[in-house]
Amino acid sequence: MRAVVYESFGGQPEVREVADPTPTRDGVVIGVRATGLCRSDWHGWQGHDSDITELPHVPGHELAGEVHAVGGDVTRWRVGDRVTVPFICACGRCASCVAGDQQVCSAQTQPGFTHWGSFAEHVAIDHADVNLVALPPEMAYSTAAALGCRFATAFRSVVAQGRARPGEWVVVHGCGGVGLSAVMIAAALGAQVVAVDVNPAALDLAKQFGAAVALEAHPDVVSAVREATDGGAHLSLDALGHPVTASNSVLSLRRRGRHVQVGLLPSGPTPLPMDRVIGWELEILGSHGMAAHAYGPMMDLVASGALRPDLLIARTIDLAEAASALAAMDRSTAAGMTMIKP
Ligand SMILES: [Zn+2]
Ligand SMILES: [Zn+2]
Repeated sequence: MRAVVYESFGGQPEVREVADPTPTRDGVVIGVRATGLCRSDWHGWQGHDSDITELPHVPGHELAGEVHAVGGDVTRWRVGDRVTVPFICACGRCASCVAGDQQVCSAQTQPGFTHWGSFAEHVAIDHADVNLVALPPEMAYSTAAALGCRFATAFRSVVAQGRARPGEWVVVHGCGGVGLSAVMIAAALGAQVVAVDVNPAALDLAKQFGAAVALEAHPDVVSAVREATDGGAHLSLDALGHPVTASNSVLSLRRRGRHVQVGLLPSGPTPLPMDRVIGWELEILGSHGMAAHAYGPMMDLVASGALRPDLLIARTIDLAEAASALAAMDRSTAAGMTMIKP
């Protein structure tokens, strides 16, 4: 099969013929029809996940496609099924999985990180009965691929962890893929959304996707947020993952407000205004992907047209273009998602 491969962290990725993957006994191989280019892929290429990633490596974790080969112990799936997967693939057996919390599985695998990913014609997914999600017949592969990482993560952060309600003020700090998804989801729930970003193009998209207020990030953006939200938000998300946006998100809240950390932060402590957390009884929550079994309500809202992840896709490229686009991500500030068709 053809795949985007890199031999060293930070080394030039290139398209190459490599061996086809084979399914494990309870796994499948999926023929990739669409796969998103995500900043996490760039972090992986830079070696920020070198503790779990072996070289040479194939990146890619936001995928949809058709089941191509099935292991002997798989019961729910057959060749030809149209599917997607969460970017966190669960084991189905650990204590978290048994409790229904596959998104924090202690034995999780992540395509494009713990094994070869989906910037390829085929990708192997283990524990298929736990991890595959069927696509409604009318859903395009590119739309489904747009769900896998950023949209599903945003959905869980706004709906399950953030508990956004109609009429509430919801602030989204950082309007990349996950932030724009959160804006769209919170607005669809009837919340009043304030979008914050440094990039005016991202703020324009946020307004298109339902943000009531768009604020350019500046050193005193917290004051602007508090003014726009009548004294502070009910719910605020750090969708970027930076100590400054994390702290700003907490300081954006009204009393008893809820902060959800969605953007990934470097390992180690991040300073947060804990005096405010105590004095105002704020909630500090994390959100990490979404389990395959929790996709139903999100898929229904997408199928009904209430949520439009397809509108987040700004451009579609092929594998060769993906190799150069991955390496260029540190220099690019392009708004919206990039979709790859292998
Ligand atoms: Zn991603
Ligand atoms: Zn597990």
